[in-house]
Amino acid sequence: MPSRPLELPSLLKTWTELLHRPIVRRLQWWALWGLLGTVLLLLADGKFRELGAGTAGLGTILASLLLLGLLLVRMWPGRSEQPDEVAPERHLATGAAQLTLGFALAQGLGGLWGEAAVVRYALVAVVLGFHRGLHLFGLVVLSLCCEGLFRYATGQHQLREILGSLLILGLFMGLREAVFRGELLRQQLAHKQRMRAAILDIERQAELFRLNLTEDALLAQATDWTDHGSVKTVTSIDHSEPENRQLHSAVVMVRQNLDALVGLLRRAMGLSTCAVLWQSEDGTKLEVVAASTDSPLQLRRSVPASAGLLGSVRKTRAPLSVTAPKPSQLSYYERPDSLGDTAHLRCTATMLLPLFEEGALCGVLCVDRFESASDQPTPFSSRDEEALRAAVPVILRSVQSERVFRSVERVRDASLSLAVASGLLSAALRPEEVVQSALQATLRLCPFDFAALTEYDDKLGQHSVLSASGDPALCLQVKALRFPDNEGLCSSVIRRQIILPAFGILRDHGEDTQVFDDTTRLRGYQWLMVVPLLLHKRPRGTLIVAGRSEKSMPERQAQLKVLANQIAVSLDNARMYQAVESLATTDGLTGLFNRRTFQQRIDEMRERAHRQGRTLSLIMCDIDHFKKINDTRGHLVGDEVLRQIARLLAETVRKVDVAARYGGEEFAILLEATEEEGAQLLAERIRHEAEKLQLSSEKGAFSCTLSLGLATFPGDGRTTIELIAHADAALYAAKHRGRNRVVSYRELAASKERPAA
Ligand code: GH3
Ligand code: MG
Ligand code: MG
Repeated sequence: MPSRPLELPSLLKTWTELLHRPIVRRLQWWALWGLLGTVLLLLADGKFRELGAGTAGLGTILASLLLLGLLLVRMWPGRSEQPDEVAPERHLATGAAQLTLGFALAQGLGGLWGEAAVVRYALVAVVLGFHRGLHLFGLVVLSLCCEGLFRYATGQHQLREILGSLLILGLFMGLREAVFRGELLRQQLAHKQRMRAAILDIERQAELFRLNLTEDALLAQATDWTDHGSVKTVTSIDHSEPENRQLHSAVVMVRQNLDALVGLLRRAMGLSTCAVLWQSEDGTKLEVVAASTDSPLQLRRSVPASAGLLGSVRKTRAPLSVTAPKPSQLSYYERPDSLGDTAHLRCTATMLLPLFEEGALCGVLCVDRFESASDQPTPFSSRDEEALRAAVPVILRSVQSERVFRSVERVRDASLSLAVASGLLSAALRPEEVVQSALQATLRLCPFDFAALTEYDDKLGQHSVLSASGDPALCLQVKALRFPDNEGLCSSVIRRQIILPAFGILRDHGEDTQVFDDTTRLRGYQWLMVVPLLLHKRPRGTLIVAGRSEKSMPERQAQLKVLANQIAVSLDNARMYQAVESLATTDGLTGLFNRRTFQQRIDEMRERAHRQGRTLSLIMCDIDHFKKINDTRGHLVGDEVLRQIARLLAETVRKVDVAARYGGEEFAILLEATEEEGAQLLAERIRHEAEKLQLSSEKGAFSCTLSLGLATFPGDGRTTIELIAHADAALYAAKHRGRNRVVSYRELAASKERPAA
């Protein structure tokens, strides 16, 4: 393989990369400015005067040096700055140049410590005033260095003076920081206030245009002008940021549409003013929501509804056209009288058209013409009126369509929330999971301060709280609470199968409202909803949600209802799943795990023991002469014996252990992390306890005995098959040795006893 020649371009590239490393670039800058500073200091320190150039010349040279410095900074290659971002080294470089210039100027003006000392401090203060953080620190250090150098050069290096300078610099910085932070805080506060005012304004306008109408109201009114009539679902209850943003864009859209329309009308019809005024909810005022004007008068923002011609239109509910109106009639202008008789322009015609929604007046379209006082006035023609009348439905539609759009948006959001909530529920398989997801899903739909889920047992007439979330004190109080049917809301909801209390509002803050049992009370809540969990029209429990702020209250309950029913279905499915799973994994007669589950568990446990380097013991156990019990006392008695032995086993083993019915009257016990000695002790205890069991039958009391064989992983068998076979062999040996005893495989192997095949 040929050796590769040294490539010059790649070397260059490495070198350039090295030069452009931020730290290297910064070091170069510091070196450059250090050099420049030293030159300036030397110049200022009288060397320049020795050259005989005078103060003016000094200024020129310093300014040129400064310019050169700034030019270098500008041309500095590499990093490309964002328009609103200045590289830190540029900050420092400019600051450093200004500082050195300041010191040099002060020296040039008559000495740093003489009359010019004040100028020096002022300059330093100004320069430092433009910088913050690390830059500021760097510049303070630089300024101190400059001062030190000057003092050294002029022989004034007493500690007191240097400390004095430090103190003054410290004061500059402190003062600057205080002023800066104060200003920042002031601006933040002002910004917050502006934001709040803007949000309030949007909310007010949204209210004015009724953009937050619920769909029911909307559907009722939308059908007469649009075919969007099929909108049908629930409103979003979320008062969050996106909601505000959507409301904002809805208001902006309406305003934009109206502004475009009035502008177009004004230009097309040669009007002076074309304005849409919208009536406030209480009907006392009309607010200018869109206007285009070039009249000499200024439009008011809101006008009393009964003033001037507006009042007449409201009364007659018909368009009103007035030629040469009196100034006092033009109530939609600020101080209409100010125009006076001598003015060059006068209002020659005005026309007001009422706007109606569902038969009620909701606003007025105002147009007028201002013409030269000397000209013949041109009143509005019938064609003008026709055009304006045609504009009225367009105005109404732009508000109404935004309303529908808003509603569709809300419907979409609501459906999305419900879909997410359902997703959470459907992912839960077991009852505990459903219970947990139910409250999470509820939170997705409505931001509660307390929520709980109860289940109702209709046979016992008893309610039990399955889970609760939110308010810690209340959660603790209701945790695992059980209570019988009573006068409380849970019981009432189960009885009546409707959401209670009727309007959700808690006038007593919940203190007199009984939800659960007699002793539990909600405190400080504004709203509450107890929703029935209905399954096939049968109440299975309740979903309880409560909030401390009226604002968070769900506008409509339909969504919660849907969710509650979904919770009921999910809970039922989970219970069914649990039942089926239990059927598949446990033995019907004894309730112990069945053989299939035993096989699964032994594999898992052996695997785990192998991974963790632990032991695992297996005890096989068989009832002695069981056939005889069956034959002499009947199968039912035999079954009862099996159940009693099973209960004994279940009670004896730990939670981590597994007791299973292996076959007919044979049981298997898996002991997690148990050595042979421990297993032996437990087996002996079981044997002893079984012997003591008092069994009864029609033919009198009797007892039974057990034979047990045990093997331990990994010593007595490394595979599952080996382990079971060896425990079985030990059991067989126990039978062989006379029954009612425990034999371990280790001992069996050691005794070399060979069980007969
Ligand atoms: P040994 O001491 O050698 O174990 O004698 P044994 O009689 O217990 O042995 P064998 O295995 O011959 O008998 C088991 C009997 O258990 C046979 C069967 O009828 C009975 N049996 C198996 N399952 C059940 C059951 O579910 N209920 C009842 N009542 N009897 C069962
Ligand atoms: Mg037996
Ligand atoms: Mg048997």
